[in-house]
Amino acid sequence: MTSDKSVSGSSPKDKERPLLSTAEELAEVRPDILIIGSGPAGTAVAEYLYTEGSKLTVGVLERGPVITTTHIGNFTEVRDPTRPQVPGDFGFRRGRFISAHERFIWDGDFEKGMMIHALGGRGIVAGAHLARFYPEDFLWPENHWPLGGRDLERFYTRAEQVRHVACGECQGHLQVWAMGRLHHYNAYPPPWGIDVGSGRGFSAGRGYDSSVAHLWTLLHDDYVQSHRPPHDGGDMPRQRRRSGRQSARVRRGAPHDGGDMPRRRRRLFVAPDTYVARIDLRGDKAHQLICYDTRNNQSVPLPVGKAVILAASPIESARLALNSGLGNQNENVGRYLADHIYIQAGIRLTNHGLSHLQGQCVNVVIPPVDARPEHRFQVEIRGEPRENTGSLYLQLTAEGATDPQWGNRVALSEPNPEKDDYKVPRANTHFTYSAGDKARIEMMKYRLQQLATALGWEHGLQDVKYMHGPGTPEEGTLRQLPPGRSHHEAGTLRMGKARADSVTNPYGLFHGLANVYAADASVFPCVGVANPMLTITALGYRLGEHLLHPRSPASASPRRA
Ligand SMILES: Cc1cc2nc3c(=O)[nH]c(=O)nc-3n(C[C@H](O)[C@H](O)[C@H](O)COP(=O)(O)OP(=O)(O)OC[C@H]3O[C@@H](n4cnc5c(N)ncnc54)[C@H](O)[C@@H]3O)c2cc1C
Repeated sequence: MTSDKSVSGSSPKDKERPLLSTAEELAEVRPDILIIGSGPAGTAVAEYLYTEGSKLTVGVLERGPVITTTHIGNFTEVRDPTRPQVPGDFGFRRGRFISAHERFIWDGDFEKGMMIHALGGRGIVAGAHLARFYPEDFLWPENHWPLGGRDLERFYTRAEQVRHVACGECQGHLQVWAMGRLHHYNAYPPPWGIDVGSGRGFSAGRGYDSSVAHLWTLLHDDYVQSHRPPHDGGDMPRQRRRSGRQSARVRRGAPHDGGDMPRRRRRLFVAPDTYVARIDLRGDKAHQLICYDTRNNQSVPLPVGKAVILAASPIESARLALNSGLGNQNENVGRYLADHIYIQAGIRLTNHGLSHLQGQCVNVVIPPVDARPEHRFQVEIRGEPRENTGSLYLQLTAEGATDPQWGNRVALSEPNPEKDDYKVPRANTHFTYSAGDKARIEMMKYRLQQLATALGWEHGLQDVKYMHGPGTPEEGTLRQLPPGRSHHEAGTLRMGKARADSVTNPYGLFHGLANVYAADASVFPCVGVANPMLTITALGYRLGEHLLHPRSPASASPRRA
């Protein structure tokens, strides 16, 4: 897909445009590609199109404001007057930020799940555990994925490079001790998207990578490039393709080495405070989006150029699709809602002689034992000595896959739909655990007890009810979080080869439509065991490539496991 718009020479209006856009301005600019949502999914597509293409113009529409342009873990303190600071507790900074900004907008079984409406979406608070899916994740339970891990190899590698993913960042006696205790379980240090430093645990305070920072950098890059005076010498055309280097140079504020390039038009537009309520179709094409400027509730019709990408997260993308009538064309829209089973346990160790190692931490992952359905889960173990207590607190978190079920779904609330501020029905979620899920839950609890014992915990773990709040589980307890609380929801617009059992094709294009794509975890046919953000990013890059080069060999490659 290429644009016939000229990229050389900027219009006088381009020069006057501020860094950020409004919905009204975007209606005037008419970007080729409109992306709904600025979380890790939307940002990955925008980033790929901006850095690898040179012609397509891209508009990102985000319902929330700009709260931060970096990950919240990079702040030293966040004030939340609604919650007192818990002395000695871990992660209060992030917890307090989340409790100040989380929005509970879903009815039904996912009512405890939440969204963050802000530039960057939930990526600004996500924990930075950036793992690829295990190979079995693409095969389990019945080969629902139309692509395999090898199809994503290039995009995973790019995602790891761009997001500075490193393994083994956590070092020191405590980590060595934990790895030794757990070596029978194949413990390994998780891939972690933190740039600098070592030996931190929950209260890591610097160096978190985030897609919001990438989007912000690209936006500045575009602004600077489109405002450069013409004829200032140098090698811009070559450099422009190496956006990483170029962006770093822009970040550092180094002088440009120039280029013989004429001034170019802006290519990346980001409109915060822009809520998309509906996609209007004409035949098999989206022709306009009905948006609202959330600051004044003004509705703005936004013409669709070449394509529109849903990247609002699985439940919100499905809600938008349903509110746009796409459920009438395909009964699978909103179906196969999936989630991670999420069980946390806490232990406190006082007798191992390592509790004085302040500033060190434990951070390991235990992979699934094998590919059997009851073993489709992993366990993350993290913690650090608690100040002034002479003890080592460890949190064990088991994350398990759920069986894909047609009955698990997102629907519009009815028969008397409760509507949001923009008259769009809220999402009603229906979710039950299958017999297989229940067997897995039992196995996960059993494994948590086993691992706690292996680490030196000499008591049982009491199964307690989850109480909402920012705190970690009490020592000696385990708790299963309610559906949606893993923040790893998936499915609803699942990809597949045939319309009979899927909504989108292997690139995220809605079956039967010419220009409407989905880019977030809604396209996952089923949830994998690993955390989702790296796979979301890789799929976003893959979609970006497909939009730029629809017939490239990689785009056409068959499924490779
Ligand atoms: C506390 C926490 C820790 C996590 N830790 C990890 C981790 O360690 N590893 C990992 O892989 N994952 C982690 N996750 C999950 C990760 O954050 C999500 O998988 C990821 O953010 C999903 O990206 P997304 O872009 O699909 O959705 P989101 O990040 O939710 O972004 C969607 C965006 O779309 C916007 N939007 C929605 N509807 C509309 C509309 N109608 N119009 C315009 N804009 C709209 C929203 O405001 C939002 O900004 C964590 C999540 C949380 C909350």
